[in-house]
Amino acid sequence: MKNNKTKAYSLLAQDFDLLENEPLKKHTSFKVGGPADLLAMPKNKLQLKKLVKKAFDLNIPVSLFGGGSNLLVTDKGIRGLVVTTKHLTSQISIIKTDTDINTKTINAEAGVPLPKLVRFATNQGLSGLEFAAGIPGTLGGAIMMNAGTKSGDMSRIVESVDVLNQNTFKIETIEKKDLDFSYRRLDQPGIILAASLKLEKAPAKKIKNLFLQNLSKKKATQPLSSASAGCFFKNPDQGKPAGELIEESGLKGMEINGAMVSLTHANFIVNTGNARCEDILLLKRHIQETVQKKYHIKLETEVRIEGE
Ligand SMILES: Cc1cc2nc3c(=O)[nH]c(=O)nc-3n(C[C@H](O)[C@H](O)[C@H](O)COP(=O)(O)OP(=O)(O)OC[C@H]3O[C@@H](n4cnc5c(N)ncnc54)[C@H](O)[C@@H]3O)c2cc1C
Repeated sequence: MKNNKTKAYSLLAQDFDLLENEPLKKHTSFKVGGPADLLAMPKNKLQLKKLVKKAFDLNIPVSLFGGGSNLLVTDKGIRGLVVTTKHLTSQISIIKTDTDINTKTINAEAGVPLPKLVRFATNQGLSGLEFAAGIPGTLGGAIMMNAGTKSGDMSRIVESVDVLNQNTFKIETIEKKDLDFSYRRLDQPGIILAASLKLEKAPAKKIKNLFLQNLSKKKATQPLSSASAGCFFKNPDQGKPAGELIEESGLKGMEINGAMVSLTHANFIVNTGNARCEDILLLKRHIQETVQKKYHIKLETEVRIEGE
């Protein structure tokens, strides 16, 4: 069994540049995570497609990383192949102008850093992405997570998504009406390669002001320079947001071996040094149990936990 695995890995390594036993803490904003058996950083869509197809033929499981800014990877790491999209070409172009309704549609590749996309839109006088001020990661990850804030999310602007089907290896365009978005989630199998976003024409100054307003609010209320994966828990459907529930449970500042409930925002768990995934999971469970006891609310994680 082990031999078959080793053979499959070396067959894959014959055709592609791969890192072996790569520590995933180097590829996540939490700075946590054990090794990936193999890690690939394809440079373009064709390479990515060939790589994923060959891994499929060799029966090697594939996990996908964008910017790794919403991921908590276990200390044992991830078996099989991890593919990161952040080194893919990152083209952005305007593909349609609709003067009647004052909109433009842009197309961008999945590995485009979200901050770069926001800058592009602002410089073009296109409104709709201001909510994303200060959100790290890639466009592909933002769409899969339906990233957003109170003032907007990706589902409002995505018109269509180009997806690599991992069974047929064909690229399919899924239109807005067929995309199953919900709170911090897109239910869509396959690998996002690109997306079209519809944005509204607006004065550049107005867009920039709104962007800066959102960014300074985020900077003032969230620990943006600490290692984290953003908000750890989803806000419950009704009532107080997760951060308030955690703060009112007296948990701000609680720490387990370097995993700490942020003093700036209680819904952020920060890695203050050398926390392991295990420490973060212990703190997570403690937070969930305390909030459950006090409020009878089960907090669900927004951060995706991956690995063995
Ligand atoms: C300081 C900080 C602040 C944050 N603020 C916010 C915020 O305000 N709002 C918010 O919603 N989030 C926030 N986040 C969380 C995170 O930045 C977003 O969820 C982001 O959009 C994730 O993008 P990513 O590329 O890093 O995805 P990753 O974390 O790499 O991946 C997330 C998920 O998407 C999948 N995925 C990634 N790329 C693709 C692809 N091309 N095709 C298919 N699946 C893919 C992965 O497999 C994984 O399941 C914050 C995080 C940090 C660290």
